[in-house]
Amino acid sequence: MTTLARTLHGLRLRARERWSLLVLLATWLVLAVGAATPTAFDEGSPALAASLMVFAATLVRALARELRPNAATYSQTHELELGLLIITGTYLLIAVTGGLASPAHPLVYALASFLLLLHRARWIAGVWLASIALLEVAVGWSSGHDSGARIAFHLSYIAFFAAGNLLILGALVRRLRGEHAQRLADELTHIRQEARDFRLVAAAAPRKSRDAEEAQLTQSAVHAIHEQVAFSLELIRGDLELHTCALLWMSEEELVLKRAASAGAALVGAPELANPGVLAGLLRNPRTLVLKNMSEKHLPPYYGAPVAVTDLCAVPLVRGERLLGVLCADRIDARPFTAAEQDKLTAAAQHVLRTVDHERAFITAMRSRYEHEQLYRASELLSGALGLEALYGKSFEAIRAIAPYDLAAISTYDEHAEAHRVLAVDVPGDRDPNHGAGWRSIAESLRDRVFEHGSGLVAMATKNRHFMPAADERVEPETVVFDVHTRLRPAQSVLVLPLLHGEKVLGTLTLAAARERQFPRATREILRVLSHQLSVGLQNARMYRAMEERATTDGLTGLTNHRAFQERLAQIHALAERTGRNFSLILTDIDHFKKVNDTYGHPIGDAVLKRVAAVFAGRARKVDIVARYGGEEFVLVLPDTDAEGAAIFANKLREEVAAQTMTSDQGPFAVTISMGVAEYPTDGHATAELIERADQALYHCKHNGRNCVTRASQLA
Ligand code: GH3
Ligand code: MG
Ligand code: MG
Repeated sequence: MTTLARTLHGLRLRARERWSLLVLLATWLVLAVGAATPTAFDEGSPALAASLMVFAATLVRALARELRPNAATYSQTHELELGLLIITGTYLLIAVTGGLASPAHPLVYALASFLLLLHRARWIAGVWLASIALLEVAVGWSSGHDSGARIAFHLSYIAFFAAGNLLILGALVRRLRGEHAQRLADELTHIRQEARDFRLVAAAAPRKSRDAEEAQLTQSAVHAIHEQVAFSLELIRGDLELHTCALLWMSEEELVLKRAASAGAALVGAPELANPGVLAGLLRNPRTLVLKNMSEKHLPPYYGAPVAVTDLCAVPLVRGERLLGVLCADRIDARPFTAAEQDKLTAAAQHVLRTVDHERAFITAMRSRYEHEQLYRASELLSGALGLEALYGKSFEAIRAIAPYDLAAISTYDEHAEAHRVLAVDVPGDRDPNHGAGWRSIAESLRDRVFEHGSGLVAMATKNRHFMPAADERVEPETVVFDVHTRLRPAQSVLVLPLLHGEKVLGTLTLAAARERQFPRATREILRVLSHQLSVGLQNARMYRAMEERATTDGLTGLTNHRAFQERLAQIHALAERTGRNFSLILTDIDHFKKVNDTYGHPIGDAVLKRVAAVFAGRARKVDIVARYGGEEFVLVLPDTDAEGAAIFANKLREEVAAQTMTSDQGPFAVTISMGVAEYPTDGHATAELIERADQALYHCKHNGRNCVTRASQLA
């Protein structure tokens, strides 16, 4: 018995499998005893009845396990076990119903065909056949005189069935299985090729056992990239009024058309491009290529039919020394690409690269075995966030789902100033109020805090580019995390993760919790991946903000430009309409500005514009709009302010401008301004009407000595 136990142990079987094996052995023992004692299988034998019941239970359990919807993937042990159980069960039934003469006996032939059709491993089929032969002999021996001949006949029938199946049906099944596998393999190869183009996976085929999960991950990444790239191309095409915007990618040293947004339908049919054509030079020397006055002879390579392309701008996508692809933009209306448009395309090309990077980082992370659903969700949340505020909020939400904390903070690091600034702090609202009070006061002291790059955990994580503390130890209350003035005394667990973008440390993510060991090793790894996503998001959001700023500010004065002014005015107007509150608009024009230009020169004129703008911007509240309306005219919008208040404010500005001393080669001088004020809704309802009224008031100033403020209501 101990030998048996040891052998079972050695086989490393799980409890249920061990149970099946014991039941099998016991049943076989019963059948063997029956064979030796001719009367044992008489009807009503208690031994048989008992083993039949135990046996049925075991069989049902094994079947139930296999039929569970989330049953484990194929295992040889299970296959062997199930087959043996079914075979033994059949012979038990035969033994109970009268031995070899039993009407149930033909079941054995059916069973042999069936099992041999389904088997996946040859040796298992061998074991099954051997056990059928053994049981046939055991059951047959007990059922009387001529059993020897009968057994021999039966066995040869079984052999016949088995051979027939193996030869005919087996071949058919193998062919079907083969075709199925081939289809899967083709699909996989295709996805992998795309993934390889985007450098999502290493060029070598992944290890076989991970094919399926790899394929799934890669597929979703490829899909995500395509979606994002398609969206970007469409956006650029609209923005720059292009005929076609196309992304070409280097695939095994050949250019392929990955994606295009085009106003026409003349693109090549197959993605592989016959030759790089006009892009040949760019491939040799990856630099932005701008062509104008093109002729039909020099069609970009992604066209399959003639198109009268006149202008082309192609931006190489490079990483390090390597050319990964080319972003092409073309037009058919003879408008050359301006420097600003080239910059835009370069920025877009960077964005495409980042999209691929983003996806690649994600895959790497996923592959490194942390395939947590939360991570999917988190990444979804993060990629949906564009604005910084939204990004912080969504990041906190995602982190909370993975590692509940009492306080979290995101800070940036400015390497020139060697200082950190806290950008966002989060204290979950659902904590109990007494407990939360301490955390909330810490959060208050942290908000917008700027601190030196000292010796705290934040500084260390930044320096080492690695999360701190390195081990999951309990932190002392006196541990410096940010700076010596803000201690996280209630925290027993602290984790600071650097936010990396390539080699650069953008900032840090700090988590603190009152519970000990709140951020164990596995959680840290997931958070590390998540922090990478946050970095990408942060970097993206910064880029978007910079782009947005460039698009909405006036280059000379730094004030809101005309277009953005109109948009913001419309917002304030809509809000005022809804809430019934008022606002005022001040239109300003510099007096005799032409003379300033004529006397001191245009550059001095520009300096005056800047100075006046600085006075306005310095005096205005955060909610006010201060915009350059055009030339030397400015406009201010003051929410929740009536005309009287606006006129007082305008006069202050007027006096301050007049008090400025401008310098020039021809000595110091001063300028004055005239201003017209109109109030919503008293002086007009529509925005155009308000501007018109303010302009009339301004005009009135100009005709009444200048350097003054006039309200629209004074004109009536
Ligand atoms: P008034 O008191 O009636 O307003 O006289 P004015 O000379 O200021 O007349 P107006 O407003 O018509 O003059 C606008 C001048 O502002 C014309 C143009 O040369 C100058 N100007 C417009 N934009 C700029 C700029 O960006 N820089 C400089 N230096 N001058 C500008
Ligand atoms: Mg003017
Ligand atoms: Mg003027």
